[in-house]
Amino acid sequence: MRHRKAVVQVMPPNPRGVSIVAELEKILRGLGEDPTREGLLKTPERAAKAIEYLTSGYRMSVEKILNGALFTVKYDEMVIVKDIEFFSLCEHHLLPFSGKVHVAYIPRNKVIGLSKLPRIVDMFARRLQLQERMTQQIAQTIEEAVDPLGVGVICEARHFCMMMRGVEKQHSGAVTSSMLGAFRSHKETRDEFLSLVSRTSL
Ligand SMILES: [Zn+2]
Repeated sequence: MRHRKAVVQVMPPNPRGVSIVAELEKILRGLGEDPTREGLLKTPERAAKAIEYLTSGYRMSVEKILNGALFTVKYDEMVIVKDIEFFSLCEHHLLPFSGKVHVAYIPRNKVIGLSKLPRIVDMFARRLQLQERMTQQIAQTIEEAVDPLGVGVICEARHFCMMMRGVEKQHSGAVTSSMLGAFRSHKETRDEFLSLVSRTSL
């Protein structure tokens, strides 16, 4: 078999008519760099692909992710999926923030396939985000899709915009939460969730 040369994939033009590759090249020039030097030659193209991937959540839909993965059951105990790893970009600095999301809900009469929860997290993480908004969006999406008795979402993250820029390093970790339904109205439910999340051996 003949060895094929690697083919450089051309980025499909985006609907906004903006060439991210060309703009990234401008940024390199703006930094005083020479985009034609060997190490940077393909950088705008590579970085554009990375950015498209890191923001691919804009092009995902809840309907496609769920795709029939809702099941009718008689189960009204708390369902919890903890330590869902995520990577996102802070919309203020375009720098990463990453960490873990813990999701819990109490079914009314439907449960969602467990593997779908990390995908819902990714759908909102792979956008330009605020940790607070992402946490709310995950909770609201589960509430709308599953119509549960309650939803709780906790997000723990570290922000590179703080870690790398040397500001408030001691506060680079942030915790946000969104509690809906029973998780908001019942302290015992909330406490059960919090204790399950803080237990390391689950
Ligand atoms: Zn930031």
